[in-house]
Amino acid sequence: MGWRGYVIANKGRMGRVAMRDSGKTFATKAAAIKNMKGDNNKWMKKNYSPEWVEKANFEYGAVPDGKFKDGSQGNKSLLKWHDATAPCQHPMCIEWNRNKPENLENRSPEEQRMHNVPWTCLLGLVY
Ligand SMILES: [Zn+2]
Repeated sequence: MGWRGYVIANKGRMGRVAMRDSGKTFATKAAAIKNMKGDNNKWMKKNYSPEWVEKANFEYGAVPDGKFKDGSQGNKSLLKWHDATAPCQHPMCIEWNRNKPENLENRSPEEQRMHNVPWTCLLGLVY
């Protein structure tokens, strides 16, 4: 079973919605997220303005394929699961935790520690 990337977007009055990548799955979570980002960036560039993208405040992640059933109900369950696994919702924390540098050279001990834990809140510094 592989990993399937997803993106969460803020759709204004509709609130936040989760959407899963289609097509093939990936062997690692990181690869699934990377593919989802690439696909979404291309889609946004073709169809939306930078202002819209800013408002959408995308959050990326990946789930084992099949964890949630296909369709909008599955996406709603996925969104709940995503929020339950993220201890905070600060946009900068979400960005940092989703894009931890893989090979940050000359990392400080503090950065090393933040890199090695599942979630860091940059404001609360909760590991
Ligand atoms: Zn935070």
